[in-house]
Amino acid sequence: MKDTLKPIVALCKRRGFIYPGSEIYGGFANTYSFGPYGAQLKKNIKDLWWKTFVEKRRDLVGLDGPILLHPKAWKASGHLDGFNDALIDCKACKARFRCDHLIEDALKQNADGLTLSQMTDLIHKNKVKCPKCGAQDFTEARHFNLMFHTHMSKTGADGDVAYLRPETAQAIFLDYKNVVDTVRVKVPFGIAQIGKAFRNEITPGNFVFRVIEFEQMEIEYFIREKDWESSFTEWLASMHDWCKLIGLKSSHVHEKEHPKEQLSHYSKRTV
Ligand SMILES: [Zn+2]
Repeated sequence: MKDTLKPIVALCKRRGFIYPGSEIYGGFANTYSFGPYGAQLKKNIKDLWWKTFVEKRRDLVGLDGPILLHPKAWKASGHLDGFNDALIDCKACKARFRCDHLIEDALKQNADGLTLSQMTDLIHKNKVKCPKCGAQDFTEARHFNLMFHTHMSKTGADGDVAYLRPETAQAIFLDYKNVVDTVRVKVPFGIAQIGKAFRNEITPGNFVFRVIEFEQMEIEYFIREKDWESSFTEWLASMHDWCKLIGLKSSHVHEKEHPKEQLSHYSKRTV
């Protein structure tokens, strides 16, 4: 944890906003409880968001979908095959690392777009040291899926694998037709949802800024493709208004444009 973060973490605990998860058992990495004030603050933000986007706007409706969706949803979305981190293990101390972080930290080079074998080669050939024990003895790099899985016991035996959603959007897509058929909405319109999502990642311990279990407030806004640029501009402005509404100073809010090569396969623009 960065030293600049330490006083904030301590203050959040002392004042009853955020406690480390399972602390009486020695803690449980990257999990946190929101204390009495934290829970209220979080609820206030969620309530204001719902009021602003769902209740006040005529072109948005709400949805509260399940955390467990049919596994076929994750096959179709690409998460089953492509939602991976490349990880590598130290054979000496068994510690596990993200290959891209290891390469960036040790070799000061960007690992974007490298294949598993290219990353393995880089780490082996440059005799990268294990940040934990100093050994130079790593396994091959492997892909690990970031979705948490569990078992549904409907068949009695081992049951079938189901996944905890890594993002909330899919429930919106799965119920798109139900929404269109049951409430009077016409493109352009949006569906908003607040809910928990789960990602089984190796996090560098950045307090509540990067956790494995988190809550998303998400809107999927459906438009005609030709209108995407004007719609994008409007939503960007709406997000700035929202930041102002929850009390963030405009001078503290910065836009970062994603470079073309870092865009998701479905994205025309990401800020
Ligand atoms: Zn090691």
